[in-house]
Amino acid sequence: MLPVDKLYMLINQAETENYFKQLQEIYNKLPDTSCEQCGTCCTVPQPAFLMEYLNIYRFLKNNLQEQLPEILKKAARYYFLELGDINIKCPFLDEENKCAIYPVRPYNCRTFGVLPEKDTVFGTEGQMAALAQKFRSEHDIRLPEEIVNFKLSPCYKVELLNNKKVTRQKLGEYLAEVSKFDGLLLPPEIVEKNLTFIPAAVHLAHTVLSEGARVRKMKVLKEYIDTGKSEALDKYIDDAASFNL
Ligand code: SF4
Ligand code: SF4
Repeated sequence: MLPVDKLYMLINQAETENYFKQLQEIYNKLPDTSCEQCGTCCTVPQPAFLMEYLNIYRFLKNNLQEQLPEILKKAARYYFLELGDINIKCPFLDEENKCAIYPVRPYNCRTFGVLPEKDTVFGTEGQMAALAQKFRSEHDIRLPEEIVNFKLSPCYKVELLNNKKVTRQKLGEYLAEVSKFDGLLLPPEIVEKNLTFIPAAVHLAHTVLSEGARVRKMKVLKEYIDTGKSEALDKYIDDAASFNL
């Protein structure tokens, strides 16, 4: 949840310390892949480290100015309705099911489906049930059943294009290498609570939305689930579109 001036400070620090290059070197160890681009895995965007978000932010600013208003709108919507709209997708997925930030997509997107045993990587039914219970008791919000029961299936359509085979152990080691940057950029108490390991779209929404909007997240979500719309949400989405990166 970084204010934009702090965000730029961290980008400068990462540039000075060569962290962007080092991050890319870790990504380069992974196999290149191709798949059917059905977009199913992008309905449940995986968490990204803060360092990966800084990388994405620079890419958005330098390469996607034209598409930005639409992406920012989708990121704001995603922030509020991640658990309220079963049809919501990653805000970086374009109309042709292509990833708009493909060259800088996070580690977890790069590794989905690359292991031979192809396991599910998103949560468990138990975790979602516990989350639903928490939302009910703390916020009087009833998460839609179809969201609580949704399970991202393993994908068997990922083809490895170069001969860089990886094992589960290697993937764990590379992930740890990616994670180390957040510890170099931020105080340990923040990193240890996993506060910097969230979907890239949520990182972006934290940058773009005002504090006033962010604190109303639960209110907006409840209103949307109860009535199917929210005027406050429409306003926050419009405000997000005019943010200057
Ligand atoms: S990795 Fe699999 S689920 Fe994801 S877009 Fe490709 S084919 Fe679809
Ligand atoms: S960042 Fe790209 S690959 Fe990852 S979930 Fe979003 S659209 Fe899909």
